[in-house]
Amino acid sequence: MILPTKELAELLAGYRRFRENGWKRKRERWTALREGQEPRVLIIACSDSRVDPAQIFDVSPGEIFVVRNVAALVPPFETNVGYHGVSAALEFAVQVLKVREIVVMGHGMCGGCKAALTQELRGTEPGKGGFIADWIEMLDEAREPIAREIGVAGREAERAMEQAAVQVSLANLRTFPWVREKEKQHDVTLRGAFFAISDGVLHLLDERTGKFSPA
Ligand SMILES: [Zn+2]
Repeated sequence: MILPTKELAELLAGYRRFRENGWKRKRERWTALREGQEPRVLIIACSDSRVDPAQIFDVSPGEIFVVRNVAALVPPFETNVGYHGVSAALEFAVQVLKVREIVVMGHGMCGGCKAALTQELRGTEPGKGGFIADWIEMLDEAREPIAREIGVAGREAERAMEQAAVQVSLANLRTFPWVREKEKQHDVTLRGAFFAISDGVLHLLDERTGKFSPA
């Protein structure tokens, strides 16, 4: 017999609620989904426990294909040896599932973006922040003007970094040849979004002005 930890016990309690309510109520939907998924949207979000896209967009199972990682980043198109998890998910979503919309959703109080801004993890070893430091190095170029003009501390600078990170991911998405091509053909739309944790307001990016406004 498995002796659950407090954490597992809480998860299992949630699972039982899900079986009672969620599963039964949406039984038909789950049955249909048995044959396969046809989500129309790919969402790239942060792993942060406060910004679950399915919760924020109140969607049903099968509606959104989600990639979550530290700071909601899409790396550039790279074909070097390595395990390219985000690229694999992107390839599957765009080429196989043929999603029509890709949403990059950054968020307020993002620890990954803050570390990119302060550079506090730079030079640390794997296990001591080194993996995070390597990952968020992607934001170094976008950080420069923010650090210069606003500084590296305080919410104003942090928010600027969080929103710039969304733009970095959008730019990197467009380095994938098939994403660029499909966007040109209007087969897929790329969208920048930002979820402000404190007030729960979703903002959308207007790429022409570079400004985020409440949705
Ligand atoms: Zn985050």
